[in-house]
Amino acid sequence: LCVDHPLQEGQTIPLSREQAHYLFGVMRLAVGAQIMLFNSRDGEWRAEVAEAGKRGGTLALAEQTMPLRMPPDVWMMFAPVKKARTDFIVEKAVEMGARRICPVQTEFTNSERIRRDRLQAHATEAAEQCGATFVPEVDDLVRLDRRLADWPGDRRLMFCDEAMDGDAGLPEAAPGPWAILIGPEGGFSERERASLRGAAFAVPVSLGPRILRADTASVAAMTLWQSKLGD
Ligand code: SAM
Repeated sequence: LCVDHPLQEGQTIPLSREQAHYLFGVMRLAVGAQIMLFNSRDGEWRAEVAEAGKRGGTLALAEQTMPLRMPPDVWMMFAPVKKARTDFIVEKAVEMGARRICPVQTEFTNSERIRRDRLQAHATEAAEQCGATFVPEVDDLVRLDRRLADWPGDRRLMFCDEAMDGDAGLPEAAPGPWAILIGPEGGFSERERASLRGAAFAVPVSLGPRILRADTASVAAMTLWQSKLGD
């Protein structure tokens, strides 16, 4: 379970109403039951249910079971697509070890806004489900041209472009911070493609000869990145 509270020996963690509902109503945990906690800072801890109520409860921290494991420094940047497919992209990015999730609005992006809190809740659920000790932050939707205009100098961008012919262009030995960019269902505009191709930090990469849906492309790109540069 992901909590906001610091995790240190001997502490008691108060539960919100929603957490109590989930643990005692849905999961049917009772006093004395064991549960694993994390907060993106202090690793994973074993705790025991100390008090269980309908509207709240407390957990008593026992011991740390795992140190914090940060995912590699790769951001998943993508143009939001339909709701369920956007949820899928966020969930899979967390499972596959993205450090940050950055929705970007491109010229052909259909949705003008996202529910950041909903996507953040999805990211938290995905981290809980896959045994991660860190939940990536989901950013607000930012226009792609703005994001590129104040790009952090040392970060490379794996620009996934179906118009790119030939072999995957991801270099083997290029450690350091990275980001992956996946376009919307309509793809990138010629203007966007030209500015990305002209950016020194961007590496155009093919994911094969077929056009993948954005959600498929996000998983393929993370797999390719992890296999060459990840851990
Ligand atoms: N422009 C396309 C069209 O309408 O025919 C489709 C875009 S595709 C559905 C969505 C995104 O997935 C693309 O913008 C790109 O980032 C990524 N993508 C899909 N297939 C790819 C491939 N074979 N190589 C690299 N990127 C790909």
